[in-house]
Amino acid sequence: MTAPRASSGAAPPIAASPALPPLGLYLHFPWCVSKCPYCDFNSHAVRDALPEADYVDALLADLDAEVANDATLAAGSREVVSVFLGGGTPSLFTPGSIGRVLEGARRRLPFAADVEITMEANPGTIERGRFAGYAGAGVGRVSLGAQSFDAAALQRLGRIHSPDDTRRAAEELHAAGLVNFNLDLMYALPGQSTAQALHDVECALALAPAQVSHYNLTLEPGTPFAARPPPDLPGDDEVEVMLALVAARLAAAGFRRYEVSAYARAGRECRHNLNYWRFGDYLGIGAGAHGKLSAAPAAADASRDAAALQIRRTLRLREPRRYLGQRPAAVTVSDVPPAQRPFEFMLNALRLLDGVEIGLYERHTGLPWETVAPTVSGLAGRGLLADPAGGRLQATDRGLQFLNDLLIEFLPAETRT
Ligand code: SF4
Repeated sequence: MTAPRASSGAAPPIAASPALPPLGLYLHFPWCVSKCPYCDFNSHAVRDALPEADYVDALLADLDAEVANDATLAAGSREVVSVFLGGGTPSLFTPGSIGRVLEGARRRLPFAADVEITMEANPGTIERGRFAGYAGAGVGRVSLGAQSFDAAALQRLGRIHSPDDTRRAAEELHAAGLVNFNLDLMYALPGQSTAQALHDVECALALAPAQVSHYNLTLEPGTPFAARPPPDLPGDDEVEVMLALVAARLAAAGFRRYEVSAYARAGRECRHNLNYWRFGDYLGIGAGAHGKLSAAPAAADASRDAAALQIRRTLRLREPRRYLGQRPAAVTVSDVPPAQRPFEFMLNALRLLDGVEIGLYERHTGLPWETVAPTVSGLAGRGLLADPAGGRLQATDRGLQFLNDLLIEFLPAETRT
């Protein structure tokens, strides 16, 4: 189904030459042992036996349909630069199943020679030898959901693992040679002090990760935490101090903050996530997965509302049983109209501390720089963006502090409130 294009006011000018952005592949695994009370991801507690083989078949059928629907994918002329197996808890699936998914994906799409393949893992699902099995299946990078090293905090977060489970999982990662791994940590936890937030970082550093992702606990609508917020959440001032001290500690340990929540050793930045933040393309396969795909417009579509690229977003059914029941998967497709693209681009690119080069805006939105130049200059004048004369589109420290206010400036005028 293709949604009608939104009315976008005056049509932006058309940029000269279309070029397709790098392509990632996201595969979603929608089950977890139990549901954490803060989580708004598409994850569902496993009730019966995991329909593992059936779900792998469904993923591959879904990918078949996606490839068949796009001429450049069907022609095999776009390489996959990164694969991300996310969830939910992909590590509930055996190495054999993960291998079957990756092998099947490789048969359907050309993978770049240096493709990055990341898998999310929950420390509570890692038995001895498991990571060696995933490495053998083709996984080269792991993102481990540590969240905290405080047993009481983990319990309040509804996590199924202990701090020692995380330590054992990290040992398994090193033993399997998967040294390029990320540890997810959360901060601003109920009852958490700044000292405890720093202790979590020390414990994480002791496990020698290549990257640390440091997320603020947020109360997402529709979650039990949003309905009944923990009464002892730290205040805004305390949270700001936590962030500053943790960032300084990670910097001292050699981890550069390259995105609002991501810190990495040199060369260990997550390429898959970088592609999202640079407004790259990605296929989203699996229950509830969403994707973004660009294409050069057909001559017949070269209307005054068309840019040098067509960009469409895809969305699959969220409920795993319904997703499993439809082959090929039901997909909702919607165009990203030119007027919406400046905001969507900035929403991603301005999260990067180094920003992006100005030419990337034109290449990945299909729009000329003039569509945002006046807004960028105005924000640079207010000290929120770097001077674009330097060739980069980049938020200043002050801009990062007021990122949401800054982004509103890129919304189509008629949708701003
Ligand atoms: S383990 Fe992760 S995906 Fe699963 S419910 Fe908890 S936060 Fe959500």
